[in-house]
Amino acid sequence: MNYDMPLFRPPSEASSLILQATLGCSWNNCTYCHMYRSKQFRIRDEAEIIEDIELAGQRYGSRVEKVFVADGDALVMPIERWEPILAKLQRTFPFLRQVSCYAMASNINEKSIADLEDLKQLGLNLFYIGPESGDEHTMRQLAKQPRPAGASRDSDYLFDAHVEAAQKARSVRIKTSAIFLLGAGGVERSQVHAEGSARLATAMDPDYLAALTLTVVSGTPLAATMDRLGWRLPDIHGLLGELRTFVTEAKPNRALFRTNHASNHLPLGGTLPDDGPRIARVIDMALAGEIPLRPEQHRGL
Ligand code: SF4
Repeated sequence: MNYDMPLFRPPSEASSLILQATLGCSWNNCTYCHMYRSKQFRIRDEAEIIEDIELAGQRYGSRVEKVFVADGDALVMPIERWEPILAKLQRTFPFLRQVSCYAMASNINEKSIADLEDLKQLGLNLFYIGPESGDEHTMRQLAKQPRPAGASRDSDYLFDAHVEAAQKARSVRIKTSAIFLLGAGGVERSQVHAEGSARLATAMDPDYLAALTLTVVSGTPLAATMDRLGWRLPDIHGLLGELRTFVTEAKPNRALFRTNHASNHLPLGGTLPDDGPRIARVIDMALAGEIPLRPEQHRGL
């Protein structure tokens, strides 16, 4: 397949077929995000997407069990565009068991329950949602999405939008994976960011939870803020402290938790909330220097 680079996918989609239905991100405005700044957002022509599916079918056919639909927020596509893609995927890959995509909370909330139900019936069954924080102030600093129509400036509209999105997905049995970003509050809001993130993880009650570590990339608005206002990322101890707060305080019903992204200093896994105390003990050992951290040169974005 010919991909329009750069191309990104969650770590857990490493063995999936990546289908590029959109290019770039329709929002492309999060202050820390460098991913699609070089790309003009567009939805690819239906014929091109169908051709890619046919080509992948000839090459990989029965080996494909999972498809990740890229790029940045593919759920923004209207239902009329999703339907033929999902139907074609089902016809082409006999062992297909999962179709997923990145989704902004607004992408989900703008769709009706009937449309989401339709997508689920056609096989779309996992959304990766990145609130990155549950601290409303931090979320606004990150520019996670525009203020929803009718939402008061004084309300926690970004927090609430993510809870609503997760609830809508659950109501049609589409799974959710929520992603949080260690360090996103900077030094100043480190603790409140960690506590808010745990609160939002609890309220969203996703099936999967992931923590990544923020890397400030030059050329992003966040890098400019760093230079201009002296915004600072917590040090490793501060970042691990955030992680400890998160695993201790997040109380979803039952979420598979991972920190296996290349950006993290300490790859961990378990189920929250049950494994929270065990994971916290491992973090304590790392903080005490008893467990080696991933060397800086082995970390990635
Ligand atoms: S929604 Fe995702 S891809 Fe788009 S700008 Fe924000 S972080 Fe980047």
